[in-house]
Amino acid sequence: MNALLKSQPTVFVIFGGTGDLNARKLAPALYNLFLENWLPNQFALIGTGRTTLSDDEFRGRMLADVNHFSRSGKATDGQWQGFAPNIYYQAADVQDPKTYREFGKRIKALEKEWGAKANVIYYLAVAPNFFPIIAKNLAEAGLTADPTCTRIVIEKPFGHDLESAKQLNQLLGEIFQEKQIYRIDHYLGKETVQNIMAFRFANAIMEPLWNRNNIEHVQISVTEQLGVGERTGYYDGAGALRDMIQNHLLQLLCIVAMEPPVSFSAEEVRDRKVDVLRAMRRFTPENVRDMAVRGQYGPGWLEGQQVPGYREEPGADPHSNTETFAAVKFFVDNWRWQGVPFYLRTGKRLHRSASVITIQFKDVPHFIFSPETAETMRQNRLVISIQPEMSIRLQVQAKRPGVDMMLNTVDMVFDYKGTYVSEAPEAYETLLLDVMLGDQTLFMRGDQVEEAWDLVMPILNSWQTRTSQNLPNYSADSWGPETAEALVAKDGFHWFTLPLNGKK
Ligand code: NAP
Repeated sequence: MNALLKSQPTVFVIFGGTGDLNARKLAPALYNLFLENWLPNQFALIGTGRTTLSDDEFRGRMLADVNHFSRSGKATDGQWQGFAPNIYYQAADVQDPKTYREFGKRIKALEKEWGAKANVIYYLAVAPNFFPIIAKNLAEAGLTADPTCTRIVIEKPFGHDLESAKQLNQLLGEIFQEKQIYRIDHYLGKETVQNIMAFRFANAIMEPLWNRNNIEHVQISVTEQLGVGERTGYYDGAGALRDMIQNHLLQLLCIVAMEPPVSFSAEEVRDRKVDVLRAMRRFTPENVRDMAVRGQYGPGWLEGQQVPGYREEPGADPHSNTETFAAVKFFVDNWRWQGVPFYLRTGKRLHRSASVITIQFKDVPHFIFSPETAETMRQNRLVISIQPEMSIRLQVQAKRPGVDMMLNTVDMVFDYKGTYVSEAPEAYETLLLDVMLGDQTLFMRGDQVEEAWDLVMPILNSWQTRTSQNLPNYSADSWGPETAEALVAKDGFHWFTLPLNGKK
């Protein structure tokens, strides 16, 4: 509980209150914050969408969403009765200026009832083409006039390419100060991702090892069993590089590669992360082919079920060139990381779902044991599992019990389930609380987003202009196309098998 936040009246306006994101993530997150006594004493959630609903009907939908999706399980009557009176609904079209005058009146009425000025948070959980429209309309209705108490939260995707991201940043910058803008990348709210910073910067033993002298290469994999399914409308214009690498995977890379910040403050942390993006080696049209590979899943079988190929998904273009898999080799050109490859891969319909960062350390400089001893010898690895397992494993060599000297790889493990009794919060709980607290550490700054777009643009441009003739090129339940193996194999490496413990 934060005493300052508790006493700060807050209005949380959700554009897209009737949508999927609110149902699956925002409603359960706000409810869990309420259960754990984090919400301000004077708090109102106003949901909005075009659907006509009364306050009570919207409360009923929120309850169903909480019961379905919340990590805390079904709400009891008592708990829900405590939360429900804070929820309101206003049917409105975001393109209609009248909508915003109505919001203004509601917010004023709440402030009058509370006898205090409220912090107002506008959460844009709507299609990205509405982001500029909503921002402009809020400004024209005078709802953004006080920068000390209004904040705007922008969902992913932030732009479609560098140019559109710059335009959106510029428009937001004309209305809001940067300290009011919260660009969500929900990966940054995950416990294990935040823990990388604790692990790196709260332990003296890591820093001396964390550089090119000791680390051979880094792999970051975010794999999914799910296919694109009903989302082809959005996905066909995006693809794996835009949807995952430009944001989530590059953010993970930044946290692994960043220099130690002077303090754990938003500007310090974000400055150090943007330094990484600036130091990353740019691609040229000539070298894209050597540094990046794409794939698309064909039809196949997964866990005993026949699954369609991407081009057969509902609504998909039967000739689509959109990639559902991408693997890219990056370099960070600075003193710490010169020459260390960072391999990033992501894809759909793969063998299993997992998000894992693996830091591969260099081999020992001289091997003193017999060659037979070395049979099971492996270089040290640090395996950071983000999901579904939440753990950090340091793989080291140990002597196998017995009269002879044989080595074995063993794991030194920190795992959340075994260490903590309490359940980790969902990423959205952490992030929504941070928005209310005014803490931007886990949100992307405008320059970060633009640097990340700038970095991937040559690949996007190359893939757009060069139609791939061999798509689809991987089947369901595989680890992606063979070209992805070749990308790392030509450097003498292979993709590590993702940890098999934990549920799929
Ligand atoms: P969705 O299920 O299609 O919901 C869209 C919402 O927008 C609905 O509440 C809809 O309300 C509202 N809306 C549409 N046109 C409107 C208009 N003219 N005026 C007022 N409201 C309007 O979309 P979603 O999946 O929740 O995604 C929302 C945003 O979050 C997108 O930017 C998406 O990229 C991002 N996002 C979603 C997820 C996810 O898991 N769903 C994850 C990451 C990011 P009515 O239907 O009542 O009109």
